[in-house]
Amino acid sequence: MALKEICGCIHLHTIFSDGGCDYDTLVDAAKGAGLDYICVTDHMSLKGRYDGREGLHGGVLVLVGYEHEDDKKLNHYLAFGVSEIAEGQNDPQDYINRISRMGGTGFLAHPAENRDVIKSLPPYPWTRWDVTGFDGIEIWNQISDWMEHVGSLRNPLRLLLRLHFPNRFLRNVPKELLKKWDDMNCSRFVSAIGGVDAHSRKISFGPFNCVIFPIEEELRGIRTHLFVDEADWAVNKDEDGGGVDTAGMNRALIDAMRDGRGFISNFSRGDARGCKIFLRDNSGAIRCPGRPADAQQPLSFPITINAELTKKAKIKLLRNGKVIKTTSSKTAAWQVTEPGVYRIEAYRGSGAWIYSNPFPVGQYPYSTT
Ligand SMILES: [Zn+2]
Ligand SMILES: [Zn+2]
Repeated sequence: MALKEICGCIHLHTIFSDGGCDYDTLVDAAKGAGLDYICVTDHMSLKGRYDGREGLHGGVLVLVGYEHEDDKKLNHYLAFGVSEIAEGQNDPQDYINRISRMGGTGFLAHPAENRDVIKSLPPYPWTRWDVTGFDGIEIWNQISDWMEHVGSLRNPLRLLLRLHFPNRFLRNVPKELLKKWDDMNCSRFVSAIGGVDAHSRKISFGPFNCVIFPIEEELRGIRTHLFVDEADWAVNKDEDGGGVDTAGMNRALIDAMRDGRGFISNFSRGDARGCKIFLRDNSGAIRCPGRPADAQQPLSFPITINAELTKKAKIKLLRNGKVIKTTSSKTAAWQVTEPGVYRIEAYRGSGAWIYSNPFPVGQYPYSTT
């Protein structure tokens, strides 16, 4: 099976909920940014889907999911592959189950959000960590990261800089969230996606109105790179979907998100398209990150975990959540000889550039100590 890398932005809001952009503007911005796909997730709304906005637009696949929230506006959950809004906003476990029963795939959204810089935008974290049955976590949320690392906005010069170059102030995934995600992955596969949480929203600072993150900027930050079967993604850049099985492309995209087949990057630290993060076992089999398929042969040791990046970075290899190797280079190839959940992180400048999904090697459960 030949794999194709697709790079896109997940978790975008439109005027169908509290976003500032309509679909045409969003799609134009996605084309301009050279994305392969975008995933729109309006709050409790699938109006984009009902309006026929899904499908291919100039080579960009538009997938419409939605963002479920509870009646206290907490516990946001990104749902994909559903044709209606799940009932119930009382119990997150209940809507996770309902979305799953409808054949949907779901991700805890901005679960560790901790922002407090703009009073009208309080944090909406995940509070119900006892839930089960979700598919993955949006570990990197662009707007949460920006607001949590932006510092005080009282100094006008500082404010101007941060509004003018918003992506420069993105830093990393919160450590406590990485720990939770790593711990979960020691007992079952939990995939990770990056989310933009694009709103292109006007906010007021005293007498001034401005848009933090205009849409063109929003799509140049946190991106999710996924690997799909090339046969499922037969599209030329100028195509508008004529004769193309876009339902099949939707399925391929959702499956790749659910199975964590890829990595997350911050575009403003370097275009990560073309980066290769893979595992090679003793038999020569090569795998990208993600949930091993049921029919896959067990891996044979020794195994090498490889990163071939497009730019020099500080690359780290983690096993069961602990850093075990580090190098500053464009490439790394580390031999591993014991079972565990491995993953790669890469840093450039003052922050994170890439987080790969895990490579589970051996059988669950893995040791968390
Ligand atoms: Zn949300
Ligand atoms: Zn959102």
